[in-house]
Amino acid sequence: MKKIVLTGDRPTGRLHVGHYVGSLKRRVELQNEGNFDEMYVMIADAQALTDNAENPEKVRQNIVEVSLDYLSCGIDPEKVTVFIQSQVPELCELSFYYMNLVTVSRLQRNPTVKSEIQMRNFETSIPVGFFTYPISQAADITAFKANIIPVGEDQLPMIEQTREIVRKFNSVYGDTLVEPEAVIPKNKACMRLPGTDGKAKMSKSLGNCIYLSDSPEEVRTKVMSMFTDPDHIKLTDPGKLEGNAVFTYLDAFATDDHFREFLPDYANLDELKAHYTRGGLGDMKVKKFLNAVLQAELDPIRTRRKQFEKNIPEVYEILKKGSVKAEKAAAETLAEVKSAMRINYFDDAELIRSQSEKYNG
Ligand code: ATP
Ligand code: MG
Repeated sequence: MKKIVLTGDRPTGRLHVGHYVGSLKRRVELQNEGNFDEMYVMIADAQALTDNAENPEKVRQNIVEVSLDYLSCGIDPEKVTVFIQSQVPELCELSFYYMNLVTVSRLQRNPTVKSEIQMRNFETSIPVGFFTYPISQAADITAFKANIIPVGEDQLPMIEQTREIVRKFNSVYGDTLVEPEAVIPKNKACMRLPGTDGKAKMSKSLGNCIYLSDSPEEVRTKVMSMFTDPDHIKLTDPGKLEGNAVFTYLDAFATDDHFREFLPDYANLDELKAHYTRGGLGDMKVKKFLNAVLQAELDPIRTRRKQFEKNIPEVYEILKKGSVKAEKAAAETLAEVKSAMRINYFDDAELIRSQSEKYNG
């Protein structure tokens, strides 16, 4: 079976280090390993509009921001098709048919959508488009017959929903669609990186992010004010690791090489953690180390971004070319879907012949 990778991001803001460890880093690794047939990266502008309908300018402005983030992290448009969701209208058509295969109560059970509805205070007035975005995500994935989906943990319910739609579609209309598999990070800290405020998830919508394009000074300020252990007041106090965002970030980012380079008193993170929980290690020292680690990781990304920022028309050209290619692939799947669903009337000579025979013998 072909290996087809698909992922995407909502252009609701610049990408942050949560995106990086949760998905983007894995995409670049997969791209460079080269062990796939096609790889697509989608800028989900139509999905972003489901909860930003009144603010299309925000979505419009962030398309180029997200694209610059991709390029600066090493996404290579020669190897990967980067495209804009709204420029592939076939995706809407697929969603429309998939909607018949999903119940309202099934959508209501989706835990990610549930918590997102809460977060946006949508409880009493959920836009229908937002409520049904897991269905449109199923269209995005299946349109490309994608079977490898590198995502953060919050996306697991979406992939599960897609799998159900695929099974239902194939059982009703015959084998047509491919069931996708989520690839989530092995490192637990990367599955759902918390915000700098210690909240469960770093998220553009919560304003608790370290952005890939933040300046060294912005990163430093954010790290220094990060949430740690509120009971760790005196240096001698034993510190807690659980819920301590600084240590979660170190889990996600720090390597033994970082210790050799920036904090040689400790061989690795286990030693640092042991000292912290024992007492006698101050938050400041740990934060300074985290800052050094993040700067080392973000520096090359920032430098590459500066280069791409000089050629914005080229970025749009990449997106345009990618969108044309993506539309072609989606159109092929849509044709198969319509034929499986028996709504391909004009391509079906047998239908026309048999109807004609019915009336004319
Ligand atoms: P929004 O608040 O607009 O939903 P977001 O920050 O949740 O934005 P998305 O564009 O919804 O970002 O997510 C894109 C990808 O990044 C998904 O695969 C998602 O799982 C992953 N991701 C987002 N935030 C995190 C995080 N904090 N930790 C790990 N992965 C994340
Ligand atoms: Mg999200």
